[in-house]
Amino acid sequence: MAELATPKLQEKKKIMTRYAQVIATENKIGTYFEILWYNEGKNDFDIGFGSYELDFVLEWLKEEFEFTEDKTIFPVVCAEWKDFRGKPQCSHCKKVFQEYYFSHKFCPECGAKMGM
Ligand SMILES: [Zn+2]
Repeated sequence: MAELATPKLQEKKKIMTRYAQVIATENKIGTYFEILWYNEGKNDFDIGFGSYELDFVLEWLKEEFEFTEDKTIFPVVCAEWKDFRGKPQCSHCKKVFQEYYFSHKFCPECGAKMGM
């Protein structure tokens, strides 16, 4: 009788990184959140763990990542809409958008969270 291979329960390996943050992208459906992190092995940024639910993404950020340096965690950048000649300007990346973006909770350019 063939022996059944018992898969070893492996402890989930976390992604080690010095930098990870949630970024937000506006599309026709809504706001899509993803994690942008620094891939130490690749020496480049990676994007993944996307969802329309910010709570999921924040959970993944907590569950899947381990930070190699304490002080470089930027989960969500906070900013506010400034008035630039009647149009909203992100106080973080300084990009100016159409009027209706005043009601948006996130900057589509840099992912900053507004009004906190
Ligand atoms: Zn911005």
